Amino acid sequence: MARLNETHDPALESWIESANDADADFPIQNLPFGVFSHPDSGRATVGIAIGDQILDVTAAYGKGVLDGPADDAARACGAENLNPLMALGGRDWSALRAAVSRALRSNGETAQAAQAAQDEILVPMAGTRMLMPAAIGDYTDFYASIYHATNVGRMMRPDNPLMPNYKHIPIAYHGRASSIVVSGEPCRRPFGQTKPANAESPSFGPTRAFDYETEMAFYVGPGNPLGQPVSLSEAEDHIFGLSILNDWSARDIQAWEYQPLGPFLAKSFASHVSPWVVPLEALAPFRRAAYRRPDGDPAPLDYLASDANETQGGFDVHIQVSIASQQMRKDGMEPVTLAVTNMQHLYWTIFQMLTHHTSNGCNLRPGDMMGTGTISGPTDESLGSILEIARRGATPVTLPTGEERSFLADGDELIMRAWCEADGARSIGLGECRAVIEGV
Ligand code: CA
Repeated sequence: MARLNETHDPALESWIESANDADADFPIQNLPFGVFSHPDSGRATVGIAIGDQILDVTAAYGKGVLDGPADDAARACGAENLNPLMALGGRDWSALRAAVSRALRSNGETAQAAQAAQDEILVPMAGTRMLMPAAIGDYTDFYASIYHATNVGRMMRPDNPLMPNYKHIPIAYHGRASSIVVSGEPCRRPFGQTKPANAESPSFGPTRAFDYETEMAFYVGPGNPLGQPVSLSEAEDHIFGLSILNDWSARDIQAWEYQPLGPFLAKSFASHVSPWVVPLEALAPFRRAAYRRPDGDPAPLDYLASDANETQGGFDVHIQVSIASQQMRKDGMEPVTLAVTNMQHLYWTIFQMLTHHTSNGCNLRPGDMMGTGTISGPTDESLGSILEIARRGATPVTLPTGEERSFLADGDELIMRAWCEADGARSIGLGECRAVIEGV
């Protein structure tokens, strides 16, 4: 797991100058995958982010700069989404990453040829439309932050916030794949059925408790056949990479509909993902021990336990959430930060989530997406939803314009950014996931 190689060398620089900025999200050590609408052809095309440019993988392959062990992976990038590449597996992903790194690094083996063809193989990120990275067949959303589960549970059951199963089993529900959209698309306020506690009967209308959920998503690589579970030691081979996920939630709809089968229309109206998928290999310098369970917590059952998972199952990924209301944008104000949280607050690792998901024999397929669940940390500054920050309306957020928010308002823009930094490693970013809420 998580081995470092030449592509992680913090000393590497790219001949694409913007990739060498200290605060660039996409230095040569990152090389995340996405799908963009090619400005010339309008075709959906697989790209790799580098500085403020996108490498058109198919064009680069056509120029002969990705030949050799990367052949199969480069050819898989000829598709209009990442699913064929995701289906291949770690050896191919790694070969392509190494070839791209050598083509884009200063003085790399194939850098001269790549640089000579730069007008044909690079597309400026600015003004280029990003598309969904994968055709997501199935979407499962977990509930893996114990802080979030405790905060929300306390609102429902003050004396007994955590359900008895929580520390034994990674909780999840099956989400809706068809309504997952990419950053930049708007989010329409959903209608639904609600019943306030003091109302006699339910009514139907736009949600009045519009919330976001700060999550990370991971995409499945090679799938598993129906009936053949993936063990924890194999789980890493089945995960392609990470993106940012905003799992919008209508709390009033959720409160009325969720028992006994869990969330349904309160979640399925939309989820936003960031366009770039950062491969697990790029995240190797930021792997950490899994969440340390406090003394007295039960150990996971055997199928969810391994030394490797415990020592390297965690990821040090910072996620910042900020908001800009319509009025703030009109007044030229910068977005204000609502919270900064971190993947290390997850009680279950993504490997335990995937293993648990297949433990009954359920088959996963390339491009399936899983969410971690809202990532809240232990402090007031690291809460992953406005439900928690504003305490269900008891402590509304005051924006610089004087506007107050217990939940989100029409015209609000929500922006999630994520990044990794560590001693001895080049910092990398996961980009951003943003959307403006449209009224109805
Ligand atoms: Ca969620």
